Amino acid sequence: MHLGYREEDEAFRTELRRWLAANLPPPEKLREPKRSSAHLPDWARQWQRRLFDEGWLVPGWPPELGGRMATPVQQMIYFEEMAAGEIPRSLNPQGLSIVTPSIVEFGTEDQKERWALPTLRAELTWCLGMSEPGAGSDLAGLSTRAVLDGDHFVVNGQKVWTSGAHHADWCLCFVRTDTEVPKHRGISALIVDMRSAGITCRPLPELTDPQAADFNEVFFSDVAVPAENLLGAPGDGWRITQGSLAHERGMLWIDNAQKVRRGLDALFEMARRPGPDGSSPSSDPVFRDRAARLAVDAQAMVLLGYRGFAKFARGQASPEHLMLKLFSSEVERRLYLEGVEALGPDALDTTLPGPPLWKEGSWAFQYLRSFAGTIAGGTSEIQRNIIAERILGLPRS
Ligand SMILES: Cc1cc2nc3c(=O)[nH]c(=O)nc-3n(C[C@H](O)[C@H](O)[C@H](O)COP(=O)(O)OP(=O)(O)OC[C@H]3O[C@@H](n4cnc5c(N)ncnc54)[C@H](O)[C@@H]3O)c2cc1C
Repeated sequence: MHLGYREEDEAFRTELRRWLAANLPPPEKLREPKRSSAHLPDWARQWQRRLFDEGWLVPGWPPELGGRMATPVQQMIYFEEMAAGEIPRSLNPQGLSIVTPSIVEFGTEDQKERWALPTLRAELTWCLGMSEPGAGSDLAGLSTRAVLDGDHFVVNGQKVWTSGAHHADWCLCFVRTDTEVPKHRGISALIVDMRSAGITCRPLPELTDPQAADFNEVFFSDVAVPAENLLGAPGDGWRITQGSLAHERGMLWIDNAQKVRRGLDALFEMARRPGPDGSSPSSDPVFRDRAARLAVDAQAMVLLGYRGFAKFARGQASPEHLMLKLFSSEVERRLYLEGVEALGPDALDTTLPGPPLWKEGSWAFQYLRSFAGTIAGGTSEIQRNIIAERILGLPRS
C-alpha cells in the first residue's frame, strides 16, 4: 500500500510554498501583538487582500470568492502549510471563517455583494453576538429582542464575551424575534452596524492581560436595524448558529494539532534544561510518563483528524470533528499544565524556551490562556454531552 499524496497534490503544495516564500509579510509583522480579533492593521489588510486576489484565501471556493476550486485534499494541504508556518489568513478570524460562510450560505445576492465580498477583501471586520449573561451554553435561551417596526427592527438587550466588538465594523447578532414559538425557533440573525446609535461596548479586562481586552459587553438600547439586514428568513437564527459553529469547528483541528506539536517540542526542550540542583524534569520518571502520554495523544489527534477528513472528503458525516474540538483543547491545556508543574515558580519566566513564534509570555501565561479553547465555541462539558447524545446515542442529560 502506498500512503502519500498524488502528484498533482504535491504540485499544489509546491506552488503554495513558492507563493508564500515570495509574498509572506515579514516575521516581525506576523509576531506583532494583536490589538483585538477585529483590528486589522494596514499590513494585515494588504496581506488578506493579496491572498484573496491570488486565490489563496479560501482555496476551496471559486476565484470570485478568493479561491481556486481546490479539492478537499488540497484544502487540507493548504491548512497544514499555513498552520505549520503559523501564518494567519486574516486577523479577524470570526469575519473570515464564521460570518462570511454564513452569508454565502444563507444570504441574498445583495447581502453577498454588500458584506461577504468586502469582508473577504479585508475591507470590513466583524464580531459575533451570540452569548448573553443568561445564555452561553444554553444559547437558545437568548433574550436580546428585535421587534419589527415598519422597515426596521428595534433591538434591545445585552451580549457578552463579544470578541473584538470595540473594533468591529459589523456584528452578526442573534436576536429573539418571536416569543410565541419554542425557543429555538424564535431566533433570527441580524447584521448590525456597530456604529449605530444606541450601541455601547464595554471592553472586559482579561486574566492573561488586563491591559489588552478582546472581550466586550455590548449593550443595545433601541438600536434601529434595517429590515433588509435580516440574514435568512425570520426564525432561521438557530440553523445559522449551527452552521456558524460548524464552520468554526471544521477549521480548528489542523491548527490545534500543530499548536500541540509545537508546544510538545517546547516542553521537551524545556524539560532537558538542568535546574539549580543539576537535575532536569526529563530525568523524572513521572514527568516522562506524562510527557509520553501527551505525545501519544498528539499523534492520536492527528490520526483522528485524518479519519474525519477522509469521511468528509467522501461526503460522509464526520463526528470526529466534534471529538477533536474537545480532545485538542483538553490536550493543549494538559500540556501547558505539565510545563507549569515541571517549572514551578520558573513558569512565570518569560525567557524560557517556548514554541517558535511564541509571542507573549511564560508557561504560566500560556496555561491560563489554554482554558479559552475549552470554553470558546462550546465548553468541554457541552461537547461531552453532544458526543454522548449524538455519537454514542446515550439518553439526554
Ligand atoms: C476566547 C473566547 C472567545 C469568545 N468569543 C465569543 C464571541 O465572539 N461571541 C460570543 O457570543 N461568545 C463568545 N465567547 C463566549 C462563549 O461562547 C461562551 O463562554 C461559552 O459558550 C460558554 O458560555 P458561558 O460563558 O455563558 O458559560 P455557562 O453556559 O454559564 O457555563 C458555565 C459552566 O457550566 C457548565 N455547563 C453549562 N451547562 C451545562 C450542561 N448542560 N451540562 C454540563 N455542564 C454545563 C459549562 O460547561 C461551564 O463550565 C467566547 C469565549 C471565549 C473563551
